[in-house]
Amino acid sequence: MAREELLSPDDQPEDAGLLLDEPGLRPKTLSEFVGQSELKGHLGVMLGAAARRREAADHLLFAGPPGLGKTTLANIIAAEMGTNLQVTSGPALERAGDLASILSKLEDGDVLFIDEIHRLPRPVEEVLYPAMEDFRIDVVLGKGPAARSIPLDLARFTLVGATTRTGLITGPLRDRFGLVARLDYYDVDDLQSIAMRAASILGVDIDEGGAYEIARRSRGTPRIANRLLRQVRDYAEVERDGNISAEVARDGLSFFGVDELGLDKASRAVLDSVCRRFGGGPVGLSTLAISVSEPTETVEDVYEPYLIQQGLLMRTPRGRVATPAAYTHLGMAPPPATSTGSESQSGLFDSDD
Ligand code: ADP
Repeated sequence: MAREELLSPDDQPEDAGLLLDEPGLRPKTLSEFVGQSELKGHLGVMLGAAARRREAADHLLFAGPPGLGKTTLANIIAAEMGTNLQVTSGPALERAGDLASILSKLEDGDVLFIDEIHRLPRPVEEVLYPAMEDFRIDVVLGKGPAARSIPLDLARFTLVGATTRTGLITGPLRDRFGLVARLDYYDVDDLQSIAMRAASILGVDIDEGGAYEIARRSRGTPRIANRLLRQVRDYAEVERDGNISAEVARDGLSFFGVDELGLDKASRAVLDSVCRRFGGGPVGLSTLAISVSEPTETVEDVYEPYLIQQGLLMRTPRGRVATPAAYTHLGMAPPPATSTGSESQSGLFDSDD
């Protein structure tokens, strides 16, 4: 597997527990879930109230960059409610019938998790509206003039949707969620706790300093913290005595090409391209994506939000622009005409290309 793939926070088979990721790392209860305290408070109240009324919890939409815990929360909700979890994704549901067949098999209180819900085809999304609101779908039998539509009652389920783009969720779908929550990047303290927790599950010897070094280069993302921990563990086992101190973590991370800000080769390539190839920008998203041989969605959802959050990149109406801090970070001198804060910066999840 290429190093960039290892470092990308995007969903990979290993996170399904198939390869490197230990499935045991996923928190199973709200109390094990580190950080996001306001959201956890809201969820605790909603789930507690639903359990007391013996009803399914309200539908929930989680928005935010990959690796922040959206899938984990869906698992926790089902576990806390003592019900089953069904997992699917927007692109996997090609036809209305695909969704109808999943919905018709749900039992009372079950949680249906739809990842990348912004990628649901429109006819499939329309099946969701009555399903979410009235727990009912219309099944069409037959074809052409003989086609008949018969209503089918569904179990009272909880839909948990996840999206990296709130901007692409249609109004009617968004309005049908009882709670729309935005997951933000985690602070270093939370990531340090996440790294310490993962280390104790994996039986890795790490001190606070080692966990801190990993945390501060995890780009605010628990999935990356876990991944960096595994890489540093490998480094510590092969090159050192297996214990992870601050110094071992620093050496291991630089060995794997993770820089001081936590940028890996792929994130640096995006920044480098804007600064070097396009003179600091503005450069359009699709041009930038082609220049680094990545899909536009990956550049926009995976790499850019953190670069923007760190003040290295800006989204402007005319395209992406590197800030002077980007040049400094890459060890280059900023060009005299680099535009700085004069352009308005749009939201992290809005597409403006
Ligand atoms: P998303 O669905 O947002 O892409 P996931 O829920 O799959 O993210 O989280 C990725 C991994 O990060 C999980 O397997 C879990 O180990 C870890 N993780 C995410 N959020 C937390 C958290 N709040 N506390 C501890 N670990 C977390």
